[in-house]
Amino acid sequence: MVESHNLESKFIVLLGAPGAGKGTQAEGLSATFSIPHVASGDIFREALEEGTEVGLLAKSYIEKGDLVPDKVTIAMVQKRVAASDCERGAILDGFPRTIEQAEALENALAEDGKSVCVVLYIKVSTETLMARLGGRWICRNCGAVYHSLFDPPKEAGKCDKCGGELYQRSDDTPGVQRKRIDVYLAQTAPLIEHYRSKGLLMDVEGDKSVEEVQHDMQKAIEAYC
Ligand code: AMP
Repeated sequence: MVESHNLESKFIVLLGAPGAGKGTQAEGLSATFSIPHVASGDIFREALEEGTEVGLLAKSYIEKGDLVPDKVTIAMVQKRVAASDCERGAILDGFPRTIEQAEALENALAEDGKSVCVVLYIKVSTETLMARLGGRWICRNCGAVYHSLFDPPKEAGKCDKCGGELYQRSDDTPGVQRKRIDVYLAQTAPLIEHYRSKGLLMDVEGDKSVEEVQHDMQKAIEAYC
């Protein structure tokens, strides 16, 4: 049972292994509830492209499939959720990934009288995760996600939505993928029990279609936030 209700803001955490569909689902939820999609991985990749200090620091961790140290990640996300466009909430995708990050988020929101209203845990089998990550293509321009087998673009290498160039993430290679799933199991999966014990966790069956998962998530948010 979810206990925390916050009428003014909706801070929603998406939890799930790499490849569970957090990014795809977050885009839809962000549009439906008119709150920003805050993806820590995207913020790191942007910082990397811009060549900032944080980006350069994050690079070696991202390439190996390791987590960027908590101190750096927490400071970065705290700054992002304190921005004015997150006043009414945000869909948090990829953050928190450790218990320390979860506690830092709770404290930062509490300082503003806010809290996480629900944590949606997208459950997907390891086989599905590996298959999904392997064929993933992302639009460099609008961030739309495709899959060479399950959801191919009409024209190879080109985004259906905006015509942008599609690319594959350098950490979607089989070795790094496996590492990211192992890191998830060791460091992030403990958040499932952390949030369940607080009465904030909702399980979502992630092996269904994108539309069905989106529908289930929307219902959960409407019921609990
Ligand atoms: P993602 O796009 O969420 O799969 O993240 C890509 C990579 O960015 C991860 O494998 C980590 O190296 C790094 N990263 C993203 N979010 C976090 C986080 N919350 N804590 C630590 N590292 C992160």
